[in-house]
Amino acid sequence: MTGSYLNKILSINARHALYRHDGKWYHNLTRFPGVLFDKNGYVIFHKRDDYINNPILQIKKDLHITDGLESLANYVKFTKREIELINGVGFDGEDKNDTKENTIRVLREIEIILRKKNLVARIKKLYNNTCQICETKVLIGKNKYYSEVHHVIALGKPHNGIDALENMICVCPNCHIELDFKAIPLNENMLKLKHHTISSKSIDYHNKAYLLAE
Ligand SMILES: [Zn+2]
Repeated sequence: MTGSYLNKILSINARHALYRHDGKWYHNLTRFPGVLFDKNGYVIFHKRDDYINNPILQIKKDLHITDGLESLANYVKFTKREIELINGVGFDGEDKNDTKENTIRVLREIEIILRKKNLVARIKKLYNNTCQICETKVLIGKNKYYSEVHHVIALGKPHNGIDALENMICVCPNCHIELDFKAIPLNENMLKLKHHTISSKSIDYHNKAYLLAE
């Protein structure tokens, strides 16, 4: 394990990074911002003064910290995510359970992606690739049409829309952009094609954003 590796993989972007398993002895930091790592976390020194004036650091030819790096007030423990990143190359602070948890998490993500693909295919088929708003069918080859599916309440944070037909609408790329930018309102009456029901919650959510975007 090296400081520069941790600096890089955790995107800390310090100009000087040093690692010591027990956090009690280091060479001196000479470029700032600098970072010191031990097996469980790190301390960032934004400026040389932060380093030189720290009362816990015993700065001589080398650096000694009697009670270890973690005794510093601004010591930051690695997050679970950071430990996962570090574990990619084997790290002795490793939690073996993470491997199993990771596998379960990845399988779950794959399941969600497949489910999403299924729903997207279903709704495109339901509308025969025709835009529900303007009835455009984009021809992309012999008897081949293109459409897009818009999630009315976006998936993921901070919107947390659900991945279900009632939150989806089949549209052409033009209408899709307009929906994404909340440039048009959305209501059942304006839909030229209606073979499924969009939830009123999704519609209200869109229109609220539409009013704010005006
Ligand atoms: Zn359209």
